[in-house]
Amino acid sequence: MEINVTAVERSVRLFALPTALMLLGLALLAFTGGAMDTLSPTLETVIVPARWFLAGLSGLGALWFAWRLVLLYRWENGADGGCHRCGGFVRHLEGRWGDYSKCMMCGGTKSGHY
Ligand SMILES: [Zn+2]
Repeated sequence: MEINVTAVERSVRLFALPTALMLLGLALLAFTGGAMDTLSPTLETVIVPARWFLAGLSGLGALWFAWRLVLLYRWENGADGGCHRCGGFVRHLEGRWGDYSKCMMCGGTKSGHY
């Protein structure tokens, strides 16, 4: 079986951060959940809001993930995001040599925001 390295790279670029955010939120939720039984009431007033924040964080990660899926879907169906190489969606970034745009699909970069 041939593995499409470009597609793997693209998946990592698109989904690594949202997945990490989701997993981080869930892992910390699980971690603080285990500590819930032994908490003193004072500590509980801190941990409970923190757990809501973590739940929000994983929710945000899930939304982000979904958004990236939408972008990928639109790109695969011919939407033009402005990349000069593949038509993928670009992110506008600032680098050492000024503004540049980086494609989220093929990783291509070009100077300037467009
Ligand atoms: Zn591209």
